[in-house]
Amino acid sequence: MKKPFVTKNQLENIAAKYPTPFHIYDEKGIREKARALNKAFSWNKGYKEFFAVKATPTPAILKILHEEGCGVDCASYVELLMSDKCGFDGSEMMFSSNDTPKEEYLFAEKLGATINLDAYEHIVFLKSLTKTDGFKFPKTMSLRYNPGGVFAMGTKIMDNPEDSKFGMTKDQLIQGILDLQKLGVEQFGIHSFLASNTVTNDYYPELARQLFEFALEIRQKTGVTLDFINLSGGIGVNYRPEEVTNDIAVIGEGVHHVYDDVLVKNGIDQLKIYTELGRFMLAPHGLLATRVLHKKKTYRTYIGVDASAVNLMRPAFYDAYHHITVMGKENDKTSEIVDVTGSLCENNDKFAKERELPIIEEGDLLVIHDTGAHGFSMGYQYNAKLRSAEILLQEDGSAKLIRRAEKPEDYFATLMGYDFS
Ligand SMILES: *Cc1c(COP(=O)(O)O)cnc(C)c1O
Repeated sequence: MKKPFVTKNQLENIAAKYPTPFHIYDEKGIREKARALNKAFSWNKGYKEFFAVKATPTPAILKILHEEGCGVDCASYVELLMSDKCGFDGSEMMFSSNDTPKEEYLFAEKLGATINLDAYEHIVFLKSLTKTDGFKFPKTMSLRYNPGGVFAMGTKIMDNPEDSKFGMTKDQLIQGILDLQKLGVEQFGIHSFLASNTVTNDYYPELARQLFEFALEIRQKTGVTLDFINLSGGIGVNYRPEEVTNDIAVIGEGVHHVYDDVLVKNGIDQLKIYTELGRFMLAPHGLLATRVLHKKKTYRTYIGVDASAVNLMRPAFYDAYHHITVMGKENDKTSEIVDVTGSLCENNDKFAKERELPIIEEGDLLVIHDTGAHGFSMGYQYNAKLRSAEILLQEDGSAKLIRRAEKPEDYFATLMGYDFS
């Protein structure tokens, strides 16, 4: 069973001040997660987590992670800008973009972020920027690897790198290192993201083995010993209560074992491990709080809530499962099968389909679990729905508004030719 990190009383008190719907985050849980991660990789000197900003682009959250020693992984101009304004130094920024506009490369270089090159072709592009825009090749660069084929663990196919737009081939990456050396780059790292939301402790160790073996091949073919390997994101969470949670200590030890087995045995013992986890760091530490507006019965029973897919897109977009708790009814013996819906004029605006839940009445508070990553950030404004507030449940138990809800003025702000004031 999934237990919310707030009680019904706490949530009713917060909702009295900040009307639903809102996302709420658990500071204590976030700090504990970051500490567990850093501990799991403490065997590796130079280890660093670069939190994937796109998962939860909220300064108050980034600040907590910064205090816990994490950097940021950015993929756009505004993510870089926000990270800079939040006090992250260039050395704490990874820039893992793709199809990257010129302005973003220039800004990343100016900030001193580590550019993680997605395409071999961009080396020539960057070289042209040295002439037209004063771009300077940094001393350290990263290259994103796509091995092609399928990524399998045992007999289980986890994902299809061959279909993925990201990264470059093995030959391109090796040639890329040689090209970049001639352009003044001295230190190199590689990055690869081969499967998303993996609920297994074996993903990182398997990915690490492939990348460590590649590091040996790179050394052999170019003479370059890599400075770091970025295992990127992809460690998942148990959205479904029956799934087993990943154990980061076991994952860290798994990578450690492969590190010794492949790298140390071949004389490489200074290589740094980086990660860019988003979902694993934040998803379980955020909830979407929403109140039941209406109950409707036709061919099914519908529970209409005040949140909709604009607040949490994953169910509508990926048909993703998010667990739901009806606050105060956790121990009810009676139940019914319902669809939990938002109010968009879209039939896929459903947080749950034919889900067995306690008997729900109008006015009940529901929490939708595991919305701390790729939740608020994937939000949009369809049907002129406004973005919700975000609230931080601080370690002392008090609630702090960290992003106010949008107002109609915000929606109108970019419209030209009309005065809506
Ligand atoms: C999205 C993304 C991440 C984070 O992925 P999670 O699944 O949230 O861990 C990390 N790195 C890159 C380059 C990404 O695009």
